[in-house]
Amino acid sequence: MQGLMMNTQLTITEVMRLADKVYGSQEIVSVTSDNARHKYTYKDAFSRVRQLANALKKMGAKEGDTIGTLAWNDYRHLELYYAISCSGMICHTVNPRLFEEQLEYIVNHAEDQYLFVDLAFVSLLEKIQDKFSNVKGFIVLTDKANMPKTSLKNVQCYESLIGAELDSFDWPQLDENQASALCYTSGTTGNPKGVLYSHRSTILHSYASALPDAFNLSVIDTVMPIVPMFHVNGWGLVYSALMVGSKVVFPGPRMGDGETLCKLINEESVTISAGVPTVWLALLEHLQKSGDSIDSLQRIGVGGAACPLSIMTEMQEKHAVWVQHAWGMTEMSPLGTYNSLKPGMETLPEVELNKVRLKTGRPLFGVDIKIEGPDGSELPWNGVAAGSLKVRGPWVVKQYFKQDKPATDENGWFETGDVATIDSDGYMSITDRTKDVIKSGGEWISSIELENCAVNHPQVLEAAVVGIPHPKWTERPLLLVILKAGEELSKEEMLNWFDGKVAKWWTPADCVFVTALPHTATGKLSKKDIRQEYQNFQWKD
Ligand code: AMP
Repeated sequence: MQGLMMNTQLTITEVMRLADKVYGSQEIVSVTSDNARHKYTYKDAFSRVRQLANALKKMGAKEGDTIGTLAWNDYRHLELYYAISCSGMICHTVNPRLFEEQLEYIVNHAEDQYLFVDLAFVSLLEKIQDKFSNVKGFIVLTDKANMPKTSLKNVQCYESLIGAELDSFDWPQLDENQASALCYTSGTTGNPKGVLYSHRSTILHSYASALPDAFNLSVIDTVMPIVPMFHVNGWGLVYSALMVGSKVVFPGPRMGDGETLCKLINEESVTISAGVPTVWLALLEHLQKSGDSIDSLQRIGVGGAACPLSIMTEMQEKHAVWVQHAWGMTEMSPLGTYNSLKPGMETLPEVELNKVRLKTGRPLFGVDIKIEGPDGSELPWNGVAAGSLKVRGPWVVKQYFKQDKPATDENGWFETGDVATIDSDGYMSITDRTKDVIKSGGEWISSIELENCAVNHPQVLEAAVVGIPHPKWTERPLLLVILKAGEELSKEEMLNWFDGKVAKWWTPADCVFVTALPHTATGKLSKKDIRQEYQNFQWKD
């Protein structure tokens, strides 16, 4: 027998309707490329969203079309998110940090019809505009007064464009499974792959990520998403914060600037923020130098890369900010796990407590996780067995955009490319990535642990470890090291550093001192490039 409840569609349009009606007076504060501090209300925002929807229609954009954005976190980008998706179009957030060839590839692959571009990226697009096959025009995200002289073809000014439109719009009735947004992964192997989110996946992810044991968002919060809106929808905060009516603060192009972040936190009374470890290092450095405080800030979610313990302790001990570790992927909208403490854990001895906090957390309801050994057998949740991490759920990718094959295995699980342990309390810990894993004599070696160990050396600035083919062991780990300015260290001294810190057979088989290491557009070490460069490395024995 079927249930007898309404089958209303889970769409982003409904988030907008509620936010407009119930939380209309809540503020959205932004730093933009043309304004040091812009403030307006949800009501103002949605009025402009309707004007933008009218403009898109007049430009000839239709349901199912892909509209690209190259923009920072600010109010105009938010308007684009809602106007595009709620019109039944696909909001393709392009990462402006990608290399030119990758930009060209994804704009063409996505078949973007128009590109909305921040002032900061106009010159970047001028150089490559002729390589875009489908782009009919560009809209610069600024007003008439700040409109630059540009060689972009068929270019318009955002404020003039929407200013000419009415602020009433009949939103189409959308199916919840319709595509809403598109984001390409910044994976380290192959061409970028498009992840096509649906309205349904977005709404379900927003419900889960706003829960108390995740971002714990509420109408009394002021949320500052530092994670870029071109990176998995700002970890979904662009939807979840508005779903609950939080005040929102956008740092715009200043998201990596500790001083601006500190100012925004204090002046706008930010209570919660989220971002990758690097931004917290920038904020902490500013706080150390200036002696400033960040009294309103209560908690931050850190993910995208492993959060060092030093960030957790300094934030807590000096600033009373609770750091929570999270893990996810572009393919997962992105949240998979979030670290909150179970009852009794807060009284654990510090060393034990830190061990728990360094884990990436428990799966949210909606995300099913498991770990598998090399033979495909499921591994136990004992906190020790490490295996390749697989996930499934309603906000996990089923198939990449325009790819014929499913992205999942025959049982519907998506292989994350991460290697993890899961303990009996359900806390997951990333120990490596399969593509980075070094298989030596049939056993896995964690390149991440070796890198972490190497960078703890006081003279080391950055380190990378890759598996290089070895005649006896199949692969052995090679260590590449950049020393801090003015430092000197011999190969032996560097390799002896691992003694007693890792298993003997894990110790890198050789070490090369370099002056630079290749990174991907999102700042991760490009292991693929390193492996390629050193594939013919001659081992000593
Ligand atoms: P992306 O799709 O670019 O967000 O990258 C997702 C990948 O980043 C994951 O598969 C992990 O390898 C890595 N990642 C995300 N969060 C964490 C974390 N908390 N600790 C370690 N690695 C992480």
